[in-house]
Amino acid sequence: MPATGAPIGAQEWVPPHPRGLDELKSAAAGCEGCELHQNATQTVFGRGAPRARMVFVGEQPGDVEDQRGLPFVGPAGRLLREAVDDAGLDPTDVYITNAVKHFRFELRGTRRIHQTPGPAHITACRPWLVAEFSLLKPQLVVLLGATAGKALLGPSFRVTQARGRLMPWPASAQHPQDFPVAEIQALATIHPSAVLRADDRDTAYQSLVDDLKVAAGALTE
Ligand code: SF4
Repeated sequence: MPATGAPIGAQEWVPPHPRGLDELKSAAAGCEGCELHQNATQTVFGRGAPRARMVFVGEQPGDVEDQRGLPFVGPAGRLLREAVDDAGLDPTDVYITNAVKHFRFELRGTRRIHQTPGPAHITACRPWLVAEFSLLKPQLVVLLGATAGKALLGPSFRVTQARGRLMPWPASAQHPQDFPVAEIQALATIHPSAVLRADDRDTAYQSLVDDLKVAAGALTE
């Protein structure tokens, strides 16, 4: 990719007619659509059942995820799995991914400190998310936190104002034409890492569970 200017984006690495999520994941392993691949350990692609009715979209992999190559396997992931259980969702009905698939961080000494991905990274990585949606054709999209919300709903999205409400999808997306799915629904909630950082963790956790119960109620047989 060029040393300056906007990233070229992931599109040229996305297979035109993928047969399944495994093929997408293999292709994403070689993605150089933005500079984040240079310092991260590996691409962290989504995971879950190919027939999952619900897709959770987070921000980006964290330090643990970057090392293990799997999304939501760190502390936030453990909390999210607990919340999924407490909301009465079937974990096999959930596919989980991130808006950006490489870990963005800055080095402070030997520590890798999380940095929020920028709009250019979100745009560059978007083709992978679109490809995942195209294969999964979910009933519901759950946006975890502000970055995922901004990635899909546009920069004016505010999680505090929009959380816990069902929205039409893709009609409420910033680029609805990108998402070749039937009319489904979307719901935004806080990122599980926000629960871990909250002063009142119990209340924050319960609010996450309450939002996920709304999501559970939106699924149809
Ligand atoms: S963050 Fe996304 S676009 Fe950038 S290199 Fe990684 S997979 Fe490609």
